[in-house]
Amino acid sequence: MGIRNKIIGLFVLSLVGCSPQAPKQVAEQALFQVSTIDALMQGVFDGNTKLSELAKKGDFGIGTLNALDGELVLENGQFFQVKSDGKVYRPSGETLTPFASVVKFAPEDSMEVHGLDFPKLKLLIYSLMKSTNYFYAVRLDGEFESVHTLSVPAQQKPYPELVVVTRNQPEFNIPKTHGKLTGFFCPEFVKGINISGYHLHFLSDDKTSGGHLLDFQLKSGMLKLDRISKFEMQLPESGDFQKSDFKTDRSAQVKEAESK
Ligand code: ZN
Repeated sequence: MGIRNKIIGLFVLSLVGCSPQAPKQVAEQALFQVSTIDALMQGVFDGNTKLSELAKKGDFGIGTLNALDGELVLENGQFFQVKSDGKVYRPSGETLTPFASVVKFAPEDSMEVHGLDFPKLKLLIYSLMKSTNYFYAVRLDGEFESVHTLSVPAQQKPYPELVVVTRNQPEFNIPKTHGKLTGFFCPEFVKGINISGYHLHFLSDDKTSGGHLLDFQLKSGMLKLDRISKFEMQLPESGDFQKSDFKTDRSAQVKEAESK
């Protein structure tokens, strides 16, 4: 606790341009989600929602693609796919996703930040949250000393469980780059539905590198937060989903698969 308070204290001193939390002027958009994390854990990798449909629900978000073919980033209304070869592709609107979360990004808070890594970013955001019982869309746009990511290789049927796939997946150490982190903090109560805590993806501004975030070293950047209190889900119509087992607690597997 001592170190945590010290770090938060440092950040509070260095807040620059942090706007006070004001009530939103426009009707709040819901965080829209396709399928559930526990379905994905069980190998429900067949896409069920077109990216063109997903785009109607938001301009900001993350997910994966049909057959688990890489990491998805929705940035300013444009979709990007970071495949397991580490390269960035532009999927068509016809491409299906089996799991994704998007929102119309409308940040209430923004601040300049310096010298952060992932653990320090988490502490900073905790110190800014009204409560950890809401969803937060998180954007960090800046100059990075390094970014450590991974991606997932496309799978063949019969699909394995996700935790089996993620035991052997390519990681990328991206040197000095400009880019953006995009993703969400989800509250504890979404366990089984989404990933409780932080889930962020990285995409470089030159669109040559990215992936599921493991860690980073930021030189300087701009942090933006959007608190979200509405949630909407689209459940798959597939037989795989209909036969899935949601009695088992898969929290430990989710943690293993998503955070290494
Ligand atoms: Zn991810």
